[in-house]
Amino acid sequence: MKHSDWLPFCLSAVWEASRCCEAIADAFEVGDHQTKQDRSPVTIADYASQALIIARLSAQTPEVGIVAEEGADDLRNDPELVKRIAGFTSQVNPEVNEATLIDLLDLGNHPGGNGTFWTLDPIDGTKGFLRGGQYAVALALVEHGIPTLGILGCPRYEWADSGTGVVFTGGEGIPAQTWLSENATPHGIQTCADVPLEEAKLCESVESAHTAHDKSAALIETLGISKDVLRMDSQAKYAAVAHGAAAVYLRQPVKKGYREKIWDHAAGFAVIEAAGGRVTDLNGKALDFSQGQTLANNRGVLATNGPLHHATLSTVLAQTPDASRWE
Ligand code: AMP
Ligand code: MG
Repeated sequence: MKHSDWLPFCLSAVWEASRCCEAIADAFEVGDHQTKQDRSPVTIADYASQALIIARLSAQTPEVGIVAEEGADDLRNDPELVKRIAGFTSQVNPEVNEATLIDLLDLGNHPGGNGTFWTLDPIDGTKGFLRGGQYAVALALVEHGIPTLGILGCPRYEWADSGTGVVFTGGEGIPAQTWLSENATPHGIQTCADVPLEEAKLCESVESAHTAHDKSAALIETLGISKDVLRMDSQAKYAAVAHGAAAVYLRQPVKKGYREKIWDHAAGFAVIEAAGGRVTDLNGKALDFSQGQTLANNRGVLATNGPLHHATLSTVLAQTPDASRWE
């Protein structure tokens, strides 16, 4: 079976989880959650999304390990929480219920490395999820250090006039496309290869703890690109570059010693490369997804439309003469 044949069930799985996350957000009236006594909606949605997707993956590709972000330890002695999560998941897939939830979550404990595995961030951009902003349900297949299939669910991403919620897909030999549902006709997407510099936008994290905002401002000045920065949570940033809404996604480390997690980049990587873009770290090195759960060999991330990659990278390096700052 070719990996492109895996796309349909991945797409259904990501749509299913995305809808469940939105149902949970609605049930909690996100934004208001801190005043409530019960569990945070993000806790519930993280586990629900992970269990729903793992149920589909383990049925379809039982031989492929899964590196997922969440562990089930906090649930083992909390039957009340298990019940609440299963209350949401079982409405979507009756097989993801109180009896199966923990075992399903446990299947996501593959360590990664230099083989073939799935990697999953069930809710990427937790802060966005909570504040009503962007978040992503991010699933990717990684083969020998390279993401070869990416399915990036963006439940709150607005797609032209078609409404809110879109899934981006792409991979090796698989075109970059958007889906407004699992059964819709997909639309092909590509990066903005020929955008005038002054219209080329940079996108970055909302969180100043996740990327150095001041350094991107300096980069914008030197490159002469648009000052209209697109700040959004999650791998929706990769999607924005993949379909031309932005030309550069920059992630400049703030904390020494921080290593990016593979599930924060794998799906976005596969989609953007299929759309004609490029991704490296800030030293210009290829991202290496074969080092376990983190991109241990890389420092920061730069994703671009392709044509702007060289100039952006050179400018970042020139502005950061001492590369050891990224250690
Ligand atoms: P974003 O939505 O782009 O801000 O990225 C969210 C992701 O940032 C989360 O899934 C975390 O894994 C990751 N993250 C957490 N701490 C840091 C940090 N100090 N630097 C970079 N990324 C981080
Ligand atoms: Mg994440």
